[in-house]
Amino acid sequence: MNGVNRRGILQMGAIGTASLAAAAVASPLDDARMLPHAIAPDQFRAAVKQLRAIVGDAWVFADPESTLPYTKSLIPDPQHRHVPSGAVAPASVEEVQAILKVANRYGLPLWPVSTGKNMGYGMATPATSGQMILDLKRMNRIIEIDAELGTALVEPGVTYQDLRDYLDANKLPFWLDVPTVGPIVSPVGNTLERGVGYTPYGDHFFMQCGMEVVLADGSLVRTGMGSVKNATAWQAFKWGYGPYLDGIFTQSNFGVVTKLGFWLMPAPPAYKPFVVQYDEMDDVAKVTDTIRPFRMNNLIPNGVLIMGAAYQLAMFNRRADFWTEARQMPDDVIKAAARQRGLGMWNTYFALYGTDEIIAAIEPIVRGAFEASGGRVLTEKEMGDNPWFQHHASLMKGGMTLEEIGIVRWRGSGGGMVAFAPVAAAKGAETRGQTALAKEILAKYDFDYAPAYAVGGRELHHIIFLLYDKSDPEEEKKADACVREMIVRFAERGWAAYRTGVSTMDLVAQQYGAANNALNARIKQALDPNHILAPGKQGIM
Ligand SMILES: Cc1cc2nc3c(=O)[nH]c(=O)nc-3n(C[C@H](O)[C@H](O)[C@H](O)COP(=O)(O)OP(=O)(O)OC[C@H]3O[C@@H](n4cnc5c(N)ncnc54)[C@H](O)[C@@H]3O)c2cc1C
Repeated sequence: MNGVNRRGILQMGAIGTASLAAAAVASPLDDARMLPHAIAPDQFRAAVKQLRAIVGDAWVFADPESTLPYTKSLIPDPQHRHVPSGAVAPASVEEVQAILKVANRYGLPLWPVSTGKNMGYGMATPATSGQMILDLKRMNRIIEIDAELGTALVEPGVTYQDLRDYLDANKLPFWLDVPTVGPIVSPVGNTLERGVGYTPYGDHFFMQCGMEVVLADGSLVRTGMGSVKNATAWQAFKWGYGPYLDGIFTQSNFGVVTKLGFWLMPAPPAYKPFVVQYDEMDDVAKVTDTIRPFRMNNLIPNGVLIMGAAYQLAMFNRRADFWTEARQMPDDVIKAAARQRGLGMWNTYFALYGTDEIIAAIEPIVRGAFEASGGRVLTEKEMGDNPWFQHHASLMKGGMTLEEIGIVRWRGSGGGMVAFAPVAAAKGAETRGQTALAKEILAKYDFDYAPAYAVGGRELHHIIFLLYDKSDPEEEKKADACVREMIVRFAERGWAAYRTGVSTMDLVAQQYGAANNALNARIKQALDPNHILAPGKQGIM
């Protein structure tokens, strides 16, 4: 049944990847489900024609079949509210500017993506149906690597693997800091989402330096020192002069980022990875309190991961290997399975960097603190080729791996996952409280608790991967309800998400309050009065 949702986007009842494939013979112009509500079909057709004139026929995807890859998403979307109208892939800044002109002329909403692999948060799908994906994958030049300063300037379509290959080919002695799915994703997309990695350069937005942005009206801005004529320090100094602008182009819909600068980590002469294991769920409080001072004084310099056993098991196993009941997998079952594989209930991966002398000086201090709190401190000597240890040892030096994507196979055959990522202050009582609340809500819906805490300086991102079977419509509905309940109930305790999937962007925005929402709306109105850039992104229409 056709209907207009509260965002005013035309929708029909059941539409999904399968039904899109089945409908491949139909023109999207006959299919009101995918069209932006504000555009009549003939106007949409005219806009598409103009887009083709800009980028060429091969780079406009405006029928159900060619749009299909852009509809794929792992997060629950039981009401099919995130179906794009098509995609357009420009090759240059000038083409982006020309596309924006067309979008303003016709009121065509555009959802920019860099590599479009925002897994667990919606992939390339838009916050509201009918948006056309502005796919920047063809803009994939590594524009500059400054080998003296250790800086990079890249376009959106460059992947971490592209950059790694370039550094290796040119024998440049730098490490990259990568998310755990590095090879196929982009520094630009990841940094704009304020993503994280696991070397000392793990806070990607902190290590970002300078942007080029196309605003909705087509004007081009360079942030920081990039605005200065004959600039030589664009990638060297973050702050420039006057209001700091880069932040407003992250997790927002205020512009299209066409270049991004960031810093590269000089490869250290020595590196030593560790894991600390604890056996009880409640021990997360001990880990947090032990690690906090070392992150504050930087004796442990990297983005530490505290990995829950169920998350670790899910990387290389399926749920049915351990547990066949529908209800949440109990702690004692998880604990036993983990122990058999040389894992604890919590596995905290950190590393020391520098010279052998520096590492030898720091190791006893850190080791002593963890052991005093009941942790087992293990290194390559004890862990050997344990695949989980090897995986994290590689990540903490910027290694390229896709092993973690295995978690999507945990349950059933349909591969569904959605990340809920509340922020916790780095205090044991906070992480213990978050873990208890997550377990309680997930258990109500029969989902397992598969967590990771990514430790920043004074906070932790609690990454709760809700793993479900997307091929089961009932389970998809339950997953959707469960993640919404987590967002609302965590926020009641002051715990809001740092990032969220396209289906819950408005719900998370609500947790940040009316004044914050109103300011974002005013900036949006000033920069994009026709609301053509990613309406609904971060809850900003
Ligand atoms: C198992 C697993 C592990 C993961 N591990 C990590 C991890 O360790 N760290 C982490 O941070 N994430 C992680 N992720 C989440 C995600 O896959 C990565 O963050 C990934 O980098 C995002 O995809 P992308 O780089 O293709 O970004 P994109 O999908 O291209 O972009 C993400 C969003 O940013 C905006 N955007 C992108 N480019 C532009 C642009 N040029 N201009 C304006 N707006 C833009 C858009 O809203 C877009 O939807 C993980 C996911 C899974 C499934």
